[in-house]
Amino acid sequence: MIRTELATLGEFGLIERINQQFTPVLPQTIKGIGDDAAVIDTATDEYLLVSTDMLVEGVHFDLSYVPLKHLGYKAIAVNVSDIAAMNGIPRQVTVSIGLSNRFFVEAIDELYAGIQAACEAYKVDLVGGDTTSSRSGLLISVTAVGVVDKTKISYRNGAQPNDIICITGDLGAAYMGLQLLEREKREFLENPEMQPQLEDKSYLVGRQLKPEARTDIVYELLEAGVVPTSMIDISDGLASEILHLCNQSGTGAQVFEENVPIADDTFLTADEFKISPLTIALNGGEDYELLFTIKQSDYEKIKNSPHISFAGFMTNDPKNVELVTKGGSRFPIKAQGWQHLTNHPS
Ligand code: ADP
Ligand code: MG
Repeated sequence: MIRTELATLGEFGLIERINQQFTPVLPQTIKGIGDDAAVIDTATDEYLLVSTDMLVEGVHFDLSYVPLKHLGYKAIAVNVSDIAAMNGIPRQVTVSIGLSNRFFVEAIDELYAGIQAACEAYKVDLVGGDTTSSRSGLLISVTAVGVVDKTKISYRNGAQPNDIICITGDLGAAYMGLQLLEREKREFLENPEMQPQLEDKSYLVGRQLKPEARTDIVYELLEAGVVPTSMIDISDGLASEILHLCNQSGTGAQVFEENVPIADDTFLTADEFKISPLTIALNGGEDYELLFTIKQSDYEKIKNSPHISFAGFMTNDPKNVELVTKGGSRFPIKAQGWQHLTNHPS
């Protein structure tokens, strides 16, 4: 009997293997596996968007420093983010949980308080779910449904050479927040008397514990009259996501180091940890910002947005997805080993 280790395929290889066995046959299935959300025709002016994500204790979160309320909020936000990545508006969510008897009712109340806060913030209704017992800690699976005007949908595969690469917010802060929380945990385990040292790190810790989906950008683009030619949310780091856009669009890219948005706090703390802030922005993950491309002719319409950085442009050479450093050197952008199923929480 042949037994292939999962790690030989990796996460993306495994998804591709599943994808090959399930070619959609219904005319209403506009987009199946392979984008941030599935796209379904509703015979109206809008498409229906569906996206699902699972969070697993010990893989995606550590309850020794993640408050349940924050976890509930994050579980909704990361799904709403995938709807935003299609240029869509979220409408409903279902939430399924697997619980072990280690959890008290009050703990589940906390989790749902966070879910409720996110439902209010993103104006979505919780409309169902499933509840089951679990032997391996807490599991949360959320499905989000959204809508997008058919003329405004943004797929991963629509970028053209010369399109401008746009990034919302700043990158790397969520990863830096995680490093701070893990350091805190290690130090606490060594010396429980120690006082936490996170006071001036609230931005970074907040980015890790309470990420926000950029639904605001979807509205901003709508108002500006700009439809991104391609879009993805940044859950795994800029490197992995720009490669997705390029691979699916058949383009290359040039990303300029000096235009990759990184917050001052991220710079300072990266220095403390002796890691390169650029590496973190490229490979850190969990920022849930949006990466998108626009036609050059749309630049004027959003060039003054305080939420958007213009980081480079798409090229016609799919073999070259490059980072141009401040000194002018060019390096190929690679997704750094995260795709292996060994430890990547995506
Ligand atoms: P994202 O990071 O945006 O959540 P993923 O990398 O998790 O996207 O998934 C990429 C695509 O693969 C999506 O279309 C998703 O629905 C699909 N997918 C992931 N896992 C499975 C699975 N086990 N079966 C079917 N489709 C899957
Ligand atoms: Mg996504």
